[in-house]
Amino acid sequence: KRPPRPHRAFICPREEDAGQSATSWNIRVMQWNILAQALGEGMDSFINCPLEALNWAERKYLILDEILTYRPHILCLQEVDHYYDTFQPILARLGYHGNFCPKPWSPCLVVEGNNGPDGCALFYDEARFELVGSVNLRLSALLIPTNQVAVITTLLCRMTGKRLCVAVTHLKARSGWECLRGAQGSDLLQNLMSLTHASGGSSGSTPDTPLLVCGDFNAVPSEDVYRCFASSPLKLDSAYKLLSSDGLSEPAFTTWKIRPTGECCSTLDYIWYSRDSFSVDAVLEMPTEEQIGPNRLPSYHYPSDHLSLVCDFSFKEKPE
Ligand code: NDP
Ligand code: CA
Repeated sequence: KRPPRPHRAFICPREEDAGQSATSWNIRVMQWNILAQALGEGMDSFINCPLEALNWAERKYLILDEILTYRPHILCLQEVDHYYDTFQPILARLGYHGNFCPKPWSPCLVVEGNNGPDGCALFYDEARFELVGSVNLRLSALLIPTNQVAVITTLLCRMTGKRLCVAVTHLKARSGWECLRGAQGSDLLQNLMSLTHASGGSSGSTPDTPLLVCGDFNAVPSEDVYRCFASSPLKLDSAYKLLSSDGLSEPAFTTWKIRPTGECCSTLDYIWYSRDSFSVDAVLEMPTEEQIGPNRLPSYHYPSDHLSLVCDFSFKEKPE
């Protein structure tokens, strides 16, 4: 009933550099909106996906299989409504430590038989990183608290002794909310600015701690919030642009689904990184339209309506 998931290859954006950096020192990062169980079964109306393909008893193994296939050192998830009963205990046995921030008014809570609120989860491999600190953030828009959250975790790499700051977020969904997403993005950037500057956030200067920001931004690349991240003083770049032939454009889609209102194929998910501190050594290619199939996502092949994004980073050696 469940055919094997098509293989995705890692693409090395800088072929000439391949092999120069010791691959064992790569930091592998996964960004994935895993589709909240309550929303998938009770809210989303993916009309071409049989409800049976969303059955949690099976679907959870597809999600875990994808995580175990790539074994990221850092795992950033959105729409997690099975943190305490599934992901935290299972991933803890696999050597991960997690932090979870539920949404204050999760839409999962209005679904009958829900498993609690959904939220953002950030896991890291404890063999590779030591925890410096972690904060849960409720994003504000013009000082008004919103229903969207972020987890920001500062880690110390045990192999290099270097610090890094990782954030995961899930911005407000749907069209018509572009301004809210813009404000939420600005609030997140402000918080990242003060958390990564030892002096407490003199804007304009380069951050002391390199950054990785993973998220379902619910925003296409032409939106303000994307431009805001791309032009921020934090000097961030989006890793998946390196998949394109010119290195300048985002993939054609990171989510692809069919609802009663129509088909939605768009790029909403990103992995941002400090361009002066990290190089991107490999990017996991996206499945093709043919591999995804005519019924789109989710499906018996793919457990979420969003695809996972996986990249290998390494610290750039800075001349002292
Ligand atoms: P968002 O608008 O950010 O969306 C919430 C979720 O719905 C996202 O995970 C999103 O997925 C998904 N979604 C996006 N588009 C659709 C669609 N067309 N059909 C179905 N699902 C979709 O929600 P908020 O966080 O702002 O919360 C608002 C929601 O909360 C309301 O829709 C309401 O149902 C619910 N609510 C709950 C209350 C409570 O008591 N808990 C009280 C009031 C409202 P993705 O990001 O992948 O697109
Ligand atoms: Ca969703």
